[in-house]
Amino acid sequence: MLSRIYGTAFHTQKELDEHLKRLEEAKARDHRKLGKELGLYSFHPEAPASPFFHPKGTQVYNELVTYIRELYFKYGYSEVITPQILDVALWKTSGHYENYAENMYFTTAEEREYAVKPMNCPGHCLMFGAQKHSYRDLPIRYADFGRLHRYERSGVTHGLTRVRTFCQDDAHIFCTPEQIKTEMADFLALLKEVYDTFGFEGMRVALSTRPEKRLGSDEIWDAAEKALSEALNEAGMPFTLNPGEGAFYGPKIEFQILDALKRPWQLGTLQVDYMLPERFDLTYTRPDGGEGRPIMLHRAILGSLERFMGILVEHTGGAFPAWLAPVQVAILPITDRANAFSTEAAARAKARGLRVELDLRNESLKAKIREAQLAKVPYMLVVGDREAEARTVSVRHRHRGDLGVQSLDGFLEALTMEARDRHR
Ligand code: ZN
Repeated sequence: MLSRIYGTAFHTQKELDEHLKRLEEAKARDHRKLGKELGLYSFHPEAPASPFFHPKGTQVYNELVTYIRELYFKYGYSEVITPQILDVALWKTSGHYENYAENMYFTTAEEREYAVKPMNCPGHCLMFGAQKHSYRDLPIRYADFGRLHRYERSGVTHGLTRVRTFCQDDAHIFCTPEQIKTEMADFLALLKEVYDTFGFEGMRVALSTRPEKRLGSDEIWDAAEKALSEALNEAGMPFTLNPGEGAFYGPKIEFQILDALKRPWQLGTLQVDYMLPERFDLTYTRPDGGEGRPIMLHRAILGSLERFMGILVEHTGGAFPAWLAPVQVAILPITDRANAFSTEAAARAKARGLRVELDLRNESLKAKIREAQLAKVPYMLVVGDREAEARTVSVRHRHRGDLGVQSLDGFLEALTMEARDRHR
């Protein structure tokens, strides 16, 4: 009888100790456990592998969307909204019906068969095709936070990281072949900006090139692969090649980062696509008056927001930076006599758009601090007689501890800036 044994070896005791410590830490940070403790999301058998985001989880989720939206504005994307349920004829045109049906949900109405969208791309092709385009209109960048449904076997679903319903920071860029390189360069700048904000390090980039069986001429593939690798080089991003690993309809780039526990996660992707524009017969008018076929770039930075949320909970251990934290500041009066000033402080924080929790319960200060600490609230403001008198607050940070006495207005201003500039 044979049995398989796995082993891991380390060069030094120190490396082994670090490894064991990380395993321990990973267990403590499990997003399924933390999500429940922090009241962020729950799962129910009525909708398997489909998260319910509670108010605090939704707050974090929406902040992520707001952040990406701001960047879309800066980088020239246009957001669109597209239907959830579309005729199977569309999925036959796109090729999903033939190749992806086992992952799709179907429904019928008035004897027509429909599918719930697993991807946004075909809908965006319909929109592009709804108008005539000249080369001057390109690139067109459609961003869509639309909800997607993909059937996954119950054996492979896992917490937030593998679910059956999710949204992506998904966008499709329709451009000319000559624009691939500049679009890629802009995308890299955007992606870098986002990953820096979250403090992800150790980015690894892989470029997958043409497979044996493929669509399109060698010239098209030469140009696309060259554009992608040049843009990566010019951005100073080292990458590895996966020869032959690209999709049959275009080369692909994948971006992997390391979280705080040095675990790799694949987040961003950029896929060049010659196929969908062909299948949907999309065209634009070239400068010479002839008809050109646009190229489609599928790209995402965070990927599935559900999955990203799971990664972020484990990356931060649930201690979100102030801009994302569901509660940014907790106000903790020591005695009833400080209640009036504490209530005023909470109102002023709220007026600034800060998310504040006022703890007027008749509990000891120690208990109040403990609870705010467990909820991983970034800042706690302790208010006693002296503070109320002087209109000051005694500031505590969840990691840095006692930060001393500050004026209420000074503190609120500093926190507003910290949240606005999205400090880590
Ligand atoms: Zn797509």
